[in-house]
Amino acid sequence: MTIKLAERELKTRFGNFLEILYYDGQSESIALVMGNVEKQENVFCRIHSSCISAHVFNSIECECREEMEMSQALIEKEGRGVIIWLDQEGKGNGHLALMASIKHKKAGLTQSEAYIRAGYKNDARSYRPAAEILSDLNVKSVVLLTNNPDKAEDLRLASTIVSDTKQITISMTET
Ligand SMILES: [Zn+2]
Repeated sequence: MTIKLAERELKTRFGNFLEILYYDGQSESIALVMGNVEKQENVFCRIHSSCISAHVFNSIECECREEMEMSQALIEKEGRGVIIWLDQEGKGNGHLALMASIKHKKAGLTQSEAYIRAGYKNDARSYRPAAEILSDLNVKSVVLLTNNPDKAEDLRLASTIVSDTKQITISMTET
């Protein structure tokens, strides 16, 4: 069970969100909510996993930061939406797993393959907290903001109605 512990208003470069902190007995998850999403359909929703490298250290090795910015910009334009941050670093394997996977990734494996080679699960994330948060917010259905359509399936399995997915296009400087 994911329960609400606290909320506050959060001012961002992409407008004001209501920040709601949830806890499921194991980890914290945070929902950023803009506008009225209660009983609404096709609510823009971004499920975003923790990424220390991008969000704390300004890494340019992944697109997590840009994906968050794009999602916030899309939600601001739409006037409503939900971002759910999950404390699932390294696809739920933890930051050590991420660091251990790097040499395999540099050798040409995909991130998922690299986790397996390093002795972890290719993806240990759970979307159950996200589904429970959307249910607590009384969101009827979501348009998932993602470049990974598999996420929609994971969320559906956790019993959220995903009416559509929307690609978040990134205009990163190629390096
Ligand atoms: Zn990242």
